[in-house]
Amino acid sequence: MNSLLSGIHQFHAQVFEREKDFYTQLVAGQSPSTLFIGCSDSRVDPTIITQSDLGELFVLRNAGNIVPPHGASNGGEPAAIECAVSALGVKDIVICGHSGCGALQAMMNPEKMSRLPLVKSWLNHAEATRRILEENYAHLSGSDLIDVAIREHVLMQIENLQTHPAVAVKLQRGELTLHAWIYLMEAGDILAYSTEDGGFASLTDLSLKEATKRTVANVRRIPA
Ligand SMILES: [Zn+2]
Repeated sequence: MNSLLSGIHQFHAQVFEREKDFYTQLVAGQSPSTLFIGCSDSRVDPTIITQSDLGELFVLRNAGNIVPPHGASNGGEPAAIECAVSALGVKDIVICGHSGCGALQAMMNPEKMSRLPLVKSWLNHAEATRRILEENYAHLSGSDLIDVAIREHVLMQIENLQTHPAVAVKLQRGELTLHAWIYLMEAGDILAYSTEDGGFASLTDLSLKEATKRTVANVRRIPA
């Protein structure tokens, strides 16, 4: 806690003072461009890995970057999604998984969670991912299985996201773009899914123009 307290002093005395105009202008309101849904993991900070400023990302984090399907949870997740999409009008939603995700490993080994009943219950929202792995990837093990699990999991959350009415409405209007990302802790890089080629590719290997095309296709959009 001491490092947090000294950090507050440092922020107030140095950062806030130096950029006072920027920080005080934020008081007027927020207009984030993106809803970023990520894992609570302390090593995966959305603003740091995307080098974003305050005010740019509306962030929703939980254990395992899970989006419960519409109606499955009355918790903070659906409320945050509705707020970001309908009230704040974000143009993009990122769901970002990550390598070394403890929640994902726990989800794959539910028998180890007997002393964590609430975590076990929360991870039930990811049961579809677990079943896909069990039934479609039984031939894999070790790091190969983990790699597939991260990919399948983030894509399943994209599916769940589209069941939320606020998201469905904006998708049909073509006013929202979805992104499935995986942060690779060991490489400081992000893989992004593209419906076009059906796979993940490193965003840092691509030009900005190519990188912006790596999105989840909007199947609900009515052609103009
Ligand atoms: Zn995680």
